[in-house]
Amino acid sequence: MRRAIYPGSFDPVTLGHLNIIKRAAVIFDELIVCVCVNSAKNAGLFTPEERVELIRRVTEGLPNVKVDRTSHLVADYARQHGAQVLVKGLRAVSDYENEIQMAMLNNKLYDRLDTVFLYTRPKYAYLSSTVVKEMARYGADLRDFVPRQIIVDVEAKARGLELPRHEERPQ
Ligand code: ADP
Repeated sequence: MRRAIYPGSFDPVTLGHLNIIKRAAVIFDELIVCVCVNSAKNAGLFTPEERVELIRRVTEGLPNVKVDRTSHLVADYARQHGAQVLVKGLRAVSDYENEIQMAMLNNKLYDRLDTVFLYTRPKYAYLSSTVVKEMARYGADLRDFVPRQIIVDVEAKARGLELPRHEERPQ
């Protein structure tokens, strides 16, 4: 079975991430979307647990997609979970330099591990979690940025409110 891991911060998951998830789920037998708790990055908008919950909600209809989180090295996580492929999304040439360095490092840490890059669909090339957070703080319409199931959560968090209760979410 070909199991791949799609690691990232996903704070929060965007339509760009979801597009990569759907395409990778077609290529691999199983895809684990893994929220990586990166000590170098600041606390973030959502907690790692909340990010996992949001990704689970938007990937509900994808049976071969699992969602998890780790505070360990991605290479160690991959080894422990029997995965030899990492999936990464590339938006622009500027992503490339960093990502290729990470890919080489991860292969150095676990020599069976390879990284597969999926290019972004052009309509998502400008999208990042940072853009989403910025837009949400200004009260912009988030429909073109994040999956509709999580719009209310992102809006509420960005305004510093409690997350909406389940019955208040759009179905
Ligand atoms: P960001 O905070 O930049 O949105 P993450 O650390 O959560 O990103 O990213 C996880 C992975 O998803 C990375 O490989 C990143 O290049 C990729 N990615 C992020 N946004 C997009 C997008 N709009 N299209 C394609 N890939 C993306």
